[in-house]
Amino acid sequence: MTMRKNITIMGAGLVGSLLSLYLAKRGHKVDIYERRPDMRKTVLDGGRSINLALSDRGFKALRGIGIEEAVRKVAIPMHGRMMHDEQGSLTYQPYGKEGQSIYSVSRAGLNAALMDLSEPNPDITYHFNRQLLDLDLRQSKATLRNHETGKLEELQTELLFGADGAFSMVRNAMQKTERYNYSQSYLEYGYKELTIPAAADGGWALEKNALHIWPRGKYMMIALPNLDGSFTCTLFFPYEGELSFESIKTDDDLLQFFLQTFPDAVPLMPDLAEDYFSNPIGSLVTVKCFPWSYEDKALLIGDACHAVVPFYGQGMNAGFEDIFVLNQMLDDFDGDWENLFKAFERSRKPDADAIADLAVMNFIEMRDKVADPRFLLRKRIESRISAQYPDKWIPLYSMVTFTDLPYSYALEMGRVQDKIMKKVMRHIQSVEDYDKPEVQKLLERQLVKKEKLKGYKAQQV
Ligand code: FAD
Repeated sequence: MTMRKNITIMGAGLVGSLLSLYLAKRGHKVDIYERRPDMRKTVLDGGRSINLALSDRGFKALRGIGIEEAVRKVAIPMHGRMMHDEQGSLTYQPYGKEGQSIYSVSRAGLNAALMDLSEPNPDITYHFNRQLLDLDLRQSKATLRNHETGKLEELQTELLFGADGAFSMVRNAMQKTERYNYSQSYLEYGYKELTIPAAADGGWALEKNALHIWPRGKYMMIALPNLDGSFTCTLFFPYEGELSFESIKTDDDLLQFFLQTFPDAVPLMPDLAEDYFSNPIGSLVTVKCFPWSYEDKALLIGDACHAVVPFYGQGMNAGFEDIFVLNQMLDDFDGDWENLFKAFERSRKPDADAIADLAVMNFIEMRDKVADPRFLLRKRIESRISAQYPDKWIPLYSMVTFTDLPYSYALEMGRVQDKIMKKVMRHIQSVEDYDKPEVQKLLERQLVKKEKLKGYKAQQV
């Protein structure tokens, strides 16, 4: 077994907490430092229930520590998207094949469950209310603010994992090293969380097993179900412009906008104005950087090295997959941390970049295209193709969400399939056209080409 190390994890979010379990399982001693108070004892985020979509990659990492089934029990399966148009009419589109779903989980509930699981482990210690302020990477010296005493504390680290999220201070220290690559880009949209409470009978006011979308071109609202019968809605809205966070100033402005844009949601949102004006606006950032490590001393993981916008529901899933991949690599690099870190960042970076790009692309799809009848027809044709050729065609969304194929491969194959779909759709006006001999011939020819390319890509991997 690898020599036992004293490991420091900065950040007890979803990724830091899960990582502690994996590392302790390998016999290491882990100390986790977290800026915020213990979320199990304090009300955070103003007490709002915030949920996330968990899918196969995330579940796979949870399986590794034996809690997949326990999490599934407190998660709500969402089998597809339910689109709400301006007249309140609904269109349903399954996410994948029968039995394939994404799962709505409480962010705080999942984080607390990971803490509950790790805390009794004598090799894992949580230190709450400790904020990393400064890090000297060369000397492995961290300066933290103890929010309980108000005093500064010095910490000597042996091996440090930066799981401190999109605005990571560990990454900040790496940015000061030579030839460090870093970019951040913000969408011109922010988001606000709103609520649809449980119906009078305690049940769900909308279809429970779906992710609801109100796609409106420039604006979009989504809603994910919670166990208590409520839905957490997220309004994605421009910061500036004629209709924007900037322009909505009064309850009346808000109501007029909602009545015009999301009319069927208004009767379900009795606290709309209160929620809207008291909840903060969140920003939507993509962070890319490289390298992710410093010698054999520190490694970034999760959002700290690859924050992505939320439109593929993959940020946490990607962070959990980081842990799964790292854990596998630990077997190959017995105690050679520097080379492990290097191999990890090299192998993971193309996938992190790919999911970042896919997430921005999906914003456009969710916002504009899901309301377009041609797009919906195309989705139905695509599911016919994948049913007819299950070994040759997995829709892009399914590759990302329901498989563990590398994100970079999914992106590339998604582009190839997109080109084929464009060609096929030129011959299609209705689902029945799919069976026409010319369509079938065209498809077969294209699939032969795709298989050759796939073989070539597999060789490269
Ligand atoms: P974080 O969750 O940000 O945790 C970082 C932790 O570090 C925090 O606890 C923080 O308090 C602590 N910390 C920060 N700075 C310091 C410091 N200086 N010192 C000590 N501690 C510090 N992902 C999905 O997979 N599915 C979804 O459906 C989904 N929906 C999303 C919706 C929205 C609106 C947003 C914004 C994100 C969404 N994500 C989703 C992404 C997901 O939230 C993140 O990818 C995930 O939380 C990353 O986990 P993390 O542990 O790396 O970072």
